[in-house]
Formats: sequence, structure tokens, C-alpha cells
Amino acid sequence: MTKERVDVNSIDWKNVLPLYVQDDKILSGKWGPCPFCTGSSTFRVVWERRGKGGSGWYCAKCGTGADLVSLIHEVTGKPLPELYDELREKRYNQGRAPTTFIPKIPTRPEKSPEEQRATLRNTWESSLPFTEDSPVWKYLSHRVPGLRIEWLGPDVRYHPGLTYRNSDGKYKGRFPVMLQRLVAGGDKLARTLQRLYLTPEGQKVPFVDEKGKSAAKKQMPSPDGPAGGSTRLNNAVSRTLALTEGSETGFAVVAKHENKIEVRSMLDCGNLSRADIDWCRYDTIFIYADRDREQEKRALKGEDGEGGVIKIRPGEYHAGILAEKLRTMGKRVIVIASVQEGVDFCDIWKLQYERRAQRLAERAVRQQEKERLRQQAQEFRRAA
Ligand SMILES: [Zn+2]
Repeated sequence: MTKERVDVNSIDWKNVLPLYVQDDKILSGKWGPCPFCTGSSTFRVVWERRGKGGSGWYCAKCGTGADLVSLIHEVTGKPLPELYDELREKRYNQGRAPTTFIPKIPTRPEKSPEEQRATLRNTWESSLPFTEDSPVWKYLSHRVPGLRIEWLGPDVRYHPGLTYRNSDGKYKGRFPVMLQRLVAGGDKLARTLQRLYLTPEGQKVPFVDEKGKSAAKKQMPSPDGPAGGSTRLNNAVSRTLALTEGSETGFAVVAKHENKIEVRSMLDCGNLSRADIDWCRYDTIFIYADRDREQEKRALKGEDGEGGVIKIRPGEYHAGILAEKLRTMGKRVIVIASVQEGVDFCDIWKLQYERRAQRLAERAVRQQEKERLRQQAQEFRRAA
């Protein structure tokens, strides 16, 4: 007898997977520990795979990803032929209880909200102001030319040594950190702290994530995340406010305006669109939008999209959401979009600054040359 093949992609996995695997994270489709490797938050189930159809899994650490039969096989240990028989005959797990998933690396217990708040407070209280010879200032002044230390605002501080662990929880050492506090309107305490880990020489620490990208920046665990909180990067007070996603872009705006306008950074575009700021203090708001690569996004009500999907550039999209909200509040809003993909204002400022420095240097050289010729002419005159 020839067995008909099982069309794995036609299975209603949202209802079938729970009959085999018991685990809240896996079944929710959120990032969590990987059943195949030691990644602690690198794995997730994708209920609707783009392009391939059906459901599957993806892990940023061990790579490939496949359909959910391989996941059930890994977690339950059930031989594949038996599994395929059950799926074909719809005798899912033969009515037995699902297997509880046990990660290869035990996850550390999460701190309670109170413990998280206490850690945020202690970390901030044990930090120091920037000093000229600190690794944080070495880093920042190199990254953002023209910036001055006396312009720095109340929400950026220097921590001489915080523990760095990679995503598997492995201890990597203690490093100097640039701390960025995100405070929401009406709050005194930080919603969360952003850490940028540096070497004593003022370079980003060389650690990378599962995708090979720099993992020098880490957000501290907090009960609500950034929740619209912002970082006041400079000490200027003005009726004009500039908002940026990242702090480096923000510091570049401070340098460009020579600390004449208040600048806040929002961490990322999602948090930018939720900005929770005391808006009555400002009349004009500049929003610097990063130009990210185009992404697909599920269309919301009122948004036109083919098959319920629209293409957006996240930075510009989220800046637009905030701009619209502020305009209905009667504010003057100017969205400043980067023209080149992947190039933010910090990169542009660096170029502008270098060109300006070059122009000044060239002018100085021309001046010197003129002076030399003038003196030469004088000497000739004297000799004649
Ligand atoms: Zn993995």
C-alpha cells in the first residue's frame, strides 16, 4: 500500500501544536529559548511563514528554521515515521498529554517589578557625571565632532563598571558604560536605562549578537519598557524641541545647533511614536526620522494595503504618527527625513563637520601662502 504524503503546510498548527508541546513561550510565538541549541531568547514559532506558507520556526542562533514537525520531533522525541502517520490520520499525539518543553539552558528567574525598579534606581544612583578623560566622553566626542561636554543634559551619565553578559547569560566582564535614562512626562524615575558598554579606551565592546551585529547596547529590564520615556541629551531650554531615535543622532543635532535648542532621544521609532512628553513646554517640534529599509506591515483600519499588508519604512512611518498627533494639538511640526537608506543624521553631521573643518584648514593654508608671497615681495623690493 502506498501512503499518501502529508501536506504539512495545510495543518492547522495553532490547534495541533499544543497537542504535542506544552510551553507558553513557544505557543505564544514570542522569542524564547531554542529547543535545538543553547540560544536563550533566539527562537520563535512563526505561525504564518512569508513566502513559504504554513507554519514554521526560526532561531537566530542555530539558523535555518524548518516546519513544525521537526520541532515536535525534537521536543517529544517521537520517531518521525510515527509522527507523520499521526498527522496524516489526524490522530494527533493519539490523545496523549503534550510534552513539557525543557530548555537546554535553564533560564534565570525574572525579577519582580519591584526588584527591577530597585536595580534601575541603584544603577542610576551609582553613576557619575561625564569627565573629559572618561571612556564615555572619549567615545562620544569622537563619534560626534563639535560636541562639548558642558552641554550634556541630566539624563546621560557615566558608570565606571557594569557587568556584561551575552544573550546566553555568560559573564564577559565589567566595562565602563554610557547610561541613558528614559523619563516619561510627569515622572521622576526612569522608565528604563539604556546601556552602551565601552572599553576603557572608549570603543564599543566587541561583542555581537546571534546575527553578528554589535551587542554593545543593552536595555535594562523594566516593568513597562521605555513606555514613551525620553532622554534629555542637553541642557538647553527652548520652545523648540528636537526629537531623534538614537542618542548619537541626537547629540549630532545638539552639536549642529550649538546647544541652542533642547534635544531628546527616544531610543527607537516605536517609542518615538509613543513619546510621553510635557508638550505644553514647546511650540515647534523637529522630528528626525531614520531612513530604514522597507518592511512589510499588517495594515491597520483605514490604511490601504494589498491583501492587508502595507510597505513602510519604520522610522518615517512612526515619525508620521507622532507628527499627526502633535499637529492636532496645534504644534508646528517639521519631520526631517534622512535621504539615504541606513544613513542617519549623525553620519551626515560628521561629514558636514569634516567638510567645514577642511574648508577652514584650506582657508588657513591660503592665508599663509598669501603672507609668504607678501614677505617675499618685500624682500625683493629691499634687495633691489
Ligand atoms: Zn537555536
